[in-house]
Amino acid sequence: MSQIDGLPPLREVIATHQLSAKKSLGQNFLLDLNLTAKIARQAGDLAGSDVLEIGPGPGGLTRGLLAEGARRVLAIEKDERCLPALAEIAAAYDGRLKVINGDALEIDPLEYLTPPIKIAANLPYNVGTELLVRWLTPKEWPPFWTSLTLMFQKEVAERIVAKPGSKAYGRLALLAQWRADARIVIDLPPQAFTPPPKVSSAVVHLTALPAPRFEADAQTLSRVVAAAFNQRRKMLRASLKGVAPDIEDHLAAAGIPPTERAEQIGLEAFCALARSIKGN
Ligand code: SAM
Repeated sequence: MSQIDGLPPLREVIATHQLSAKKSLGQNFLLDLNLTAKIARQAGDLAGSDVLEIGPGPGGLTRGLLAEGARRVLAIEKDERCLPALAEIAAAYDGRLKVINGDALEIDPLEYLTPPIKIAANLPYNVGTELLVRWLTPKEWPPFWTSLTLMFQKEVAERIVAKPGSKAYGRLALLAQWRADARIVIDLPPQAFTPPPKVSSAVVHLTALPAPRFEADAQTLSRVVAAAFNQRRKMLRASLKGVAPDIEDHLAAAGIPPTERAEQIGLEAFCALARSIKGN
C-alpha cells in the first residue's frame, strides 16, 4: 500500500501488468508517488477544476492529481497495456477518473471536460512540444485551459522561459510569454525516471493571461518572429527583408535599430513591429 492512496506501489503495478517501458512511446515512468504528488501540487488548487492528463502510463501522476483533490481527471493514453492499471485507479477514486485510449494529437478532449480546466502531463518530448504549441495557439484567447503543468527536457523548459539576450531565447519563449506566465517549478535528474532518460528534465508551469501582454495580430507576430529567428545571427533588416518590403520603416516605427539581431529584441518590441506591419 502506498502512503498517498490505498493502491499498490507503482513498481508492483508495473510488474503485475507487465508494463516494460517502450522506447517508441517515450516511456520514462515516475514511480515515486511523493514526487508525482509534488508535481500535482504545482498545478495549484485542484479541488474546483477538471484536469486533462496526457500520457498517464501506469498512473503515477494521475494518482498524484487525484490524491491532491482534482475534481475530475480525464487521462488520454496511447498504450493500451496501461488500461488495466488505470482502471484500478478509476475504481479506487469512484467516478473521478475517466480514461481514453488513443493518441492525444488526434482526440478532442473538450466534450468530456467542464471548466475550469487545468492540464498536467509528463509526455515524450516531441508530442509535448507539439501539444504545447497547439495549446498556446488557439483560435481565441483566453484558451480552454487556465494552466499547464508540463514535464519537458530541461533544454526545452529553458527555451520556454528564456529572456532576451540568452541562447535559449527564441520562438518558443515569445509564443509562451506573449499570453502566459511561464516558470520552471521543479528540476529533475535522469534518475527520477524508470528507465532514466539521457538528459535532465524540468516541470514548467504556465498560467494563461486573460489577454495578451501586448496587442498584436497572432499570425503577423508569428510570421515576424519565425523570420527573425530563422536567421538569428543576421541583422533584422536582412532577416526580415521578406516579411515586408519597407521593413526598415517598420523597424523604425517599432523603435528597433535595423542592425539589431533577433536575440536582443524583447516581446514588447516584436509586438510593436507586428502592429506596424499589420497596419499597412
Ligand atoms: N505519466 C506517466 C509517468 O509520469 O510515469 C508516464 C510518462 S511517459 C514519459 C509518457 C506517456 O505518454 C507514456 O505512457 C506513453 O505511452 C504516453 N504517450 C506517448 N505518446 C502519446 C500520445 N501521442 N498520446 C497519448 N499518450 C501518449
